[in-house]
Amino acid sequence: MTTALVVKRALVIGAHADDVEFTSAGTVARWTSEGAVVGYVLCTDSSRGTDDPRLPPRELARIRQKEQRAAALKVGVRECWFLGYEDGTLEPTLALRRDLVRAIRSFRPDTVICPDPTVRWHGQGYLNHPDHLAVADAALAAIYPSARDRWAFPELLAEGLEPHKVGTVLLSAPAEPDTWVDISATIDLKVAALLEHKSQITDPGAVEFVRDWGRRAGVAQGLPYAEAFRAFFLG
Ligand SMILES: [Zn+2]
Repeated sequence: MTTALVVKRALVIGAHADDVEFTSAGTVARWTSEGAVVGYVLCTDSSRGTDDPRLPPRELARIRQKEQRAAALKVGVRECWFLGYEDGTLEPTLALRRDLVRAIRSFRPDTVICPDPTVRWHGQGYLNHPDHLAVADAALAAIYPSARDRWAFPELLAEGLEPHKVGTVLLSAPAEPDTWVDISATIDLKVAALLEHKSQITDPGAVEFVRDWGRRAGVAQGLPYAEAFRAFFLG
């Protein structure tokens, strides 16, 4: 179904700078234009996105965080957290889960977008990045049960972070989509956000890829452009 989700506060959880721009920035732009407050949590330091031997990982991480903040602003997002785990080696540890519970209890979103933990590949040309899978596992465990469980990570209570129930979970780029958001009015903002990742988006084919992905997601729904999700509505 295409859906008019009622979203007031949303947290988007990803692994790397530019993940949100590929999968869900059109939806984010739509929500912020409708008055929602959206924040991003990027779990890694995004330090590995280069083959350039002259660019050390620490310098790349600094550049990519700056690009991420600019990309977020393009779609109306002012709050970006970078958890700083090493790019390429992320695991769904309890430490990562605790950091995500901290973010959820601090931001108190009604809606969370995160990756789909069941996506190991797409077609014959794409193997999913293990960092995406680690984020997906840790984020879902953070949403349920830990963020809502008073006695999970009691050190967070000591920080003043009370339990919080997330109502809606949307898995981005899912294996089995069941929910589509119309991004026809925000596809240009999505592309503009993507282009802020200047260190990564050097091939104009990336823009066409994103537009084509949006067109293909929208076609069965009768929409010029859409983003697809799998939705869960938690009590
Ligand atoms: Zn990524």
